[in-house]
Amino acid sequence: MINSAKNEAEPVKSQPQLRIYSRSEHNISRAQISENALKVLYKLQKEGFNAYLVGGCVRDLLLGREPKDFDVVTNADPEQIRKVFRNCRLIGRRFRLAHVHFGREVIEVATFRGAAEDQNDKQVLDKAGRLLRDNVYGTIEEDVWRRDFTVNALYYNIKDFSVVDYVSGMADHEAATLRLIGDPETRFREDPVRMLRAVRFAVKLGFRLHPDCEKSMHEVAELLSSIPSARLYDEALKLFLSGYALQTFEMLRHYGLFQVLFPATENCLSVEENGFPRLLLIKALGNSDSRIAEGKTVTAYFLWAAFLWEPVQMRAQEKIAKGMVEFMAYQDAANEVISLQVKSTALPRHITMAMREVWSLQPKFNARVGSKPSRLITHPRFRAGYDFLLLRAETGGADLEVAKWWGKYQEVSENEQRKMTQPPRKGPASKTGRKRNYRGKVKESVIEKGEL
Ligand code: ATP
Ligand code: MG
Repeated sequence: MINSAKNEAEPVKSQPQLRIYSRSEHNISRAQISENALKVLYKLQKEGFNAYLVGGCVRDLLLGREPKDFDVVTNADPEQIRKVFRNCRLIGRRFRLAHVHFGREVIEVATFRGAAEDQNDKQVLDKAGRLLRDNVYGTIEEDVWRRDFTVNALYYNIKDFSVVDYVSGMADHEAATLRLIGDPETRFREDPVRMLRAVRFAVKLGFRLHPDCEKSMHEVAELLSSIPSARLYDEALKLFLSGYALQTFEMLRHYGLFQVLFPATENCLSVEENGFPRLLLIKALGNSDSRIAEGKTVTAYFLWAAFLWEPVQMRAQEKIAKGMVEFMAYQDAANEVISLQVKSTALPRHITMAMREVWSLQPKFNARVGSKPSRLITHPRFRAGYDFLLLRAETGGADLEVAKWWGKYQEVSENEQRKMTQPPRKGPASKTGRKRNYRGKVKESVIEKGEL
């Protein structure tokens, strides 16, 4: 992930240093750009406005990657944009944006934003330096300064297919470096979520963080806790469901950001650094990345269930030690851990419900005799619960033999399933001296003696 920056650009100056890369000096071709985005750009141009692609799409096109979406900026204001496109909706109260709809594809069209520094009356900061309001229209020269990283501040001009660069973004791009525009600490204070974005882009693009950016991140990581939990949940979803969850996890921990997102998990991890909780989590994140690579779906509730499993276990054990019955202890522990977690990353109710179900299924997998298994397998969360059991078993937190039994139970015929769940026969077994434990499982000591 860490690349050496051979070709590093000069520090970003406070004044725009314009450099224009003509069509022959970069590798973005119109064939890579969505037809709808091109339509929007050409139409704006035809109506006499300036129009550019900007942000992540330019960055990704330069890398030869397919952009997630295409963002357009223009000097047309939202009302003017609305008049140009019939299929257009204006959104956002604080800063109006236009969404131009083409079936399922939406092209976001924004008006250039004004430079924060020159607009003190319109820019409102809180005591920690966080930007609370920033809502003026401006020019491209102003728009560039409110963007986060230099590689996210490149503009592809539809007029002559050039790339417009005010902040040495192209040089940083070539050097695979993420560098904040302006003073890193100020920019992180304005919006601490930029620290999560730094990690997300570093991992996704394989870029390294500029040393100044890294240094500030260590210093102000704590400020992330001032961000509303709903926004942190959205960012955490992008971080962990993008196919690089494992690397992201390691990097967030390195910068002290993980503890803001998952404080209870971090507590457990720091207590038992090389033990099971870490293993279970690492396996869950790794599995999730592999699933995404294979084009399979991954769910947030499963990952959050894995993140919070150890905190739930720890609390439940404490309660059991104080005399609470196991079932109640786990239920109470789950309630407590979830209410603590939602203060960091707000969780929608359907997610917390699904997490509780995955957890509460775990002890039920121990019942393998009689009619219980045939009922359990019809539970709507059975598959997720079983996957979770497997995860626990593979990392030493549950009986591997039980997990294997359930794996087989799902595959065999109904007839075979009935045989698997029959209670152990008492008479002959006791005669031969075989012992079975309460789960109907032949004790390992017996197997070891070769008595089977
Ligand atoms: P992705 O591939 O995830 O879409 P992106 O860079 O396009 O990456 P977006 O969240 O879509 O990210 O934002 C589009 C652009 O808006 C960014 O490239 C950046 O220029 C600017 N931007 C977004 N969020 C911020 C922020 N918090 N602070 C400053 N600029 C931002
Ligand atoms: Mg984007």
